Amino acid sequence: MIENLNPFAIAQAQLDEAAAVLQLDPDMHAFLREPMREFHFTIPVRMDDGRTRVFKAFRVQYNDARGPGKGGVRFHPDETIDTVRALAAWMTWKTAVADIPLGGAKGGVICNPRELSRGELERLSRGYMRNVWRFVGLDQDSPAPDVNTNAQIMAWMLDEYETLTGQHEPGVITGKPLELGGSAGRPPATAMGGIFAIRETGRVLGIDLQGATCAIQGYGNVGSFAHKLAVEILDLKVVAVSDEFGGIYHANGLDYPTIAAHVRETGRVPDAPDADAISNNDLLTLDVDVLIPAAIENQLTGQNADEVRARIIAELANGPTTPEADDVFDEKGIYVIPDFLCNAGGVTVSYFEMVQNAYQFYWDETLVSDRLDKKMTTAFHAVHDMAQRKQVSNRVAAYLVAIDRVATAVRLRGWV
Ligand code: NAD
Repeated sequence: MIENLNPFAIAQAQLDEAAAVLQLDPDMHAFLREPMREFHFTIPVRMDDGRTRVFKAFRVQYNDARGPGKGGVRFHPDETIDTVRALAAWMTWKTAVADIPLGGAKGGVICNPRELSRGELERLSRGYMRNVWRFVGLDQDSPAPDVNTNAQIMAWMLDEYETLTGQHEPGVITGKPLELGGSAGRPPATAMGGIFAIRETGRVLGIDLQGATCAIQGYGNVGSFAHKLAVEILDLKVVAVSDEFGGIYHANGLDYPTIAAHVRETGRVPDAPDADAISNNDLLTLDVDVLIPAAIENQLTGQNADEVRARIIAELANGPTTPEADDVFDEKGIYVIPDFLCNAGGVTVSYFEMVQNAYQFYWDETLVSDRLDKKMTTAFHAVHDMAQRKQVSNRVAAYLVAIDRVATAVRLRGWV
């Protein structure tokens, strides 16, 4: 049978499994299976050659029972409404498992940003905000960066929002440049949260991580910081990294400053000095202690799960593992730190950014990372303990923790 790789079908299947364990009320289950609202729109962009191109775009507000929506905007040629729905659902479970007072949302534009000039990218980003500004805001929904979007794009979106509303409201967007009210420690936050979760995994499993081997797929914001911090914080030996163009390997470990400089110069991982070439699939099946998928969805599937040899899989990407691969990892006893727990560091520091914006009072990087550590450690142990108590996988346990919190808020509001 061919595996269903539709991310939203996967997100719903994961919810269904957890709902069965929880014996969730069927009406609540039906409500939590679907987004509360979604926006589909077109963005006409004047291109540099004078022609107008029309881009399709989405914003999905999955659930805001626990607080205003929160979620990134992704620019990707393969973006679909179902990817955005899945990512918005995972944001809902992520804010709940991290126990921050926000709901779940996500946005996307079908485009290839590599083919756009800087001016075209700015007009597209501003066009996105012109379409959603009425439906976003501090008390409704606040966007952030995701794949192929960054602090500069957040700055353009923020400026467009403030121009349209005539108000200064920096908290409406997070992941902003520091100069516009961004938080210290936001760029490395997603990776750092995952590194804290890996540290706690070492503790509960009784594994000494010093010098343990690690492979990382994806070398964007999350993957490159994961390389840096895995070495700096945990003293892991990162033997392989990759991006969409291919990967590199060295048994003695890859030097972060060398690889980062090569990627800055060439825009890609392959051909970095002092390393051999390796394919993405070979990277995923390396015999390492820690495997960190930090690229996109559906990388660990029924096709390659049998060959995966890592002891710990730390899912910094959203949705890297399909349900079929999950079953294989369960059987093999691989410790999976599920995505919406492992990568919750980003939204947690985004929340800290909103708090700092509201108070106009800014924290230093040490305070941010100490507070992030506390949040991640608490969330990790809530999930780990639930998995032990109920004898379920970490992913199901993370859903049990998150669904309980969201369902309680829904019930208290009297929606179901
Ligand atoms: P990014 O655009 O900065 O980097 C993505 C990286 O993945 C790039 O190196 C790209 O070359 C690589 N990639 C893309 N397709 C690939 C493929 N098929 N095989 C191998 N590599 C591939 O994005 P990012 O912000 O680093 O996000 C990475 C993942 O982390 C995504 O799943 C995203 O949803 C998730 N995430 C990001 C944040 C955040 O704060 N940025 C927070 C939570 C989760």
